Amino acid sequence: MFGLYLHVPFCQKKCSYCDFYSIESTEHIARFVDTLRREIDLRAAAGTGHVFTSVFFGGGTPSLLHPDEIGSITALLRGHFTFADDCEWTMECNPGTVTLERLQGYRRCGINRLSFGVQSFQTSELEFLDRIHDADQAVEAMKLAREAGFENVNMDLMFAVPGQTIDTLRDNLRRMIELNPDHISAYSLIYENGTPLYADLLKGRVKPLPEEVDAEMYHTVITTLRGAGYEQYEVSNFARPGRRCRHNLTYWHAEPYLAVGPSAHGFVGTTRYWNFRSLSAWTEHVMKGALPEANHEHLSESDLLTEHVFLHLRADGLRAAEVSARFGIDIRSKLQPDLTYWIEEGFVTDRDDTLSLTAEGYRVCDEISSKAAARLAG
Ligand code: SF4
Repeated sequence: MFGLYLHVPFCQKKCSYCDFYSIESTEHIARFVDTLRREIDLRAAAGTGHVFTSVFFGGGTPSLLHPDEIGSITALLRGHFTFADDCEWTMECNPGTVTLERLQGYRRCGINRLSFGVQSFQTSELEFLDRIHDADQAVEAMKLAREAGFENVNMDLMFAVPGQTIDTLRDNLRRMIELNPDHISAYSLIYENGTPLYADLLKGRVKPLPEEVDAEMYHTVITTLRGAGYEQYEVSNFARPGRRCRHNLTYWHAEPYLAVGPSAHGFVGTTRYWNFRSLSAWTEHVMKGALPEANHEHLSESDLLTEHVFLHLRADGLRAAEVSARFGIDIRSKLQPDLTYWIEEGFVTDRDDTLSLTAEGYRVCDEISSKAAARLAG
């Protein structure tokens, strides 16, 4: 697998909890598209020689770009790079920004998967999160997506929002399942340092839900989505059969991905790089003909092993043969006696040569991953 991530750094309005790089302005979009095209030229000149299996327009709000702008980018990409016939082309969309005409336009550009940031169907929760859309717009967005011919659609859902109850969460899940998305990403609200929400937390203006309620909500999410036929294949991700997100699997399988746009992070070979988290600094570098990388790091063998363990365990499991071939380690013997304990307690299964977390195991994913990584690296 080889992925390509493109970061679009514009939002109509910042959400209180969001720490992704984006600015509340659309006036620089035309210049951004021009600069992004130049960065793509630079990356292509550096050469990759790979066949891309997924492309992901993230942000920010990529659906603020006109289909002609998205089309000018996808056409340029096709001119420079090679893409698998079944390449997954995803675009993140805010339900408050879409029309049928726009969605049809994106479809014509080759986008074949949409990801809607729905988060909730409760007005109070959407207002708390500073979302620009309401529940009806989320319902309408899904209807328009199907009408435009999208057969692969994700919806994001948020839980543990202050003021939320198990009943409102159940209502959110019911309404989302009724819309029949192919994939659901369900995240607990995180208080990220530097966000307005974090400032409110420090000032005592918001109070997080108690940990046990958060855990109960996560359990509700897992059991409800599994009951509705969604397969959990990562801590926060659920898919209809055959609809796992290929781009995210590229990350979770520690496969390489190229990244362009301000603040974008890429990983090629054993090197991780990240672009400037500033539209002006990123633009300035690209326009001078330089790769706009703020920095990069080379991962050691031990870093790569730790990352492999963390990423695979939180997703679809640690394959014994793969770890043996890649790192020369027999995971079953190295993980004893913890492995026997995890299996007996129902946190881990050992099937088809793969150690996988169960629903209970996903709840303690960080603890198990840390211990496993320490044991394997030791
Ligand atoms: S729309 Fe998305 S990227 Fe923009 S501020 Fe909200 S959560 Fe962040």
